[in-house]
Amino acid sequence: MTDLLAARLIRDIPDFPKPGILFKDITPVLANYAAFQEVIDHCVGWASGKAPDVIVGIESRGFVFGAPVALALGLGFVPVRKIGKLPHDTIREEYALEYGTNAVEVHRDAIQLGQRVLIVDDLLATGGTAAAAARLVETLGGTVIGFSFLIELEFLQGRAALDGYEIQALLKY
Ligand code: 5GP
Repeated sequence: MTDLLAARLIRDIPDFPKPGILFKDITPVLANYAAFQEVIDHCVGWASGKAPDVIVGIESRGFVFGAPVALALGLGFVPVRKIGKLPHDTIREEYALEYGTNAVEVHRDAIQLGQRVLIVDDLLATGGTAAAAARLVETLGGTVIGFSFLIELEFLQGRAALDGYEIQALLKY
């Protein structure tokens, strides 16, 4: 499917975090310098053509990938976090889960009007988290110029939740 080193290191963990879920564990990619660098290089190569002003990373694995991408592009980094983690004034967006809802927050002053924002996370599943992150950015007057993921789980059709946005995913399952 691909000759990426990362593809050989990602491992499937059955029944995590709940029975019936096959979880893609990306930690072996982080532990391997060449694989980690390869993933960041691909993302930076794609993102540099889009001229973002700032990188947004989604808690928590989006921080691990988003921060080195931001530094490589000479840009700042903004965290989108789960509820109650950010200390200053925040705005919140809810999104639906299979049962119930979840929410993410961002600092109200983290995005400036008109900024071009690239959103980074490790994995696109249903797209609910990424779509909520985009709404946060847009509420603050930013423009989402794209999403970058290491993994896309195509069978969950997350792209449908991100209709109209540019999406880059290095590995698709
Ligand atoms: P979604 O909102 O697209 O359904 O879920 C995506 C979010 O859940 C991402 O923040 C991602 O980190 C996490 N996630 C869901 N499933 C997996 C998985 O199998 N592996 C990893 N590494 N993260 C997952």
